[in-house]
Amino acid sequence: MCEHGDTVILELPIVGDIRCGSADIDRCIAPIIKAMNAGGIITKACCCGHGKVMGYIQLADGRYLGVFPNRRTIMKHRHEKLMGDSATGP
Ligand SMILES: [Zn+2]
Repeated sequence: MCEHGDTVILELPIVGDIRCGSADIDRCIAPIIKAMNAGGIITKACCCGHGKVMGYIQLADGRYLGVFPNRRTIMKHRHEKLMGDSATGP
């Protein structure tokens, strides 16, 4: 994960009411954001989390994608969510 403020400027598409234009994107996820938008998956906002919190990519359709630094981190997050859900279930 890059440090807060380590960004690159991407020219993103302007689609409907989503006016991205030039945007400062966290350096470590900039290639992903660029590829998604080039492929027609329009993003509205994003943050890599900078190794401190879970990162996200907000899509134009309202969904959010999580950004994790590695497999161990996402598996830990999933385990905690599953255990939390089972503890509060019926
Ligand atoms: Zn980063």
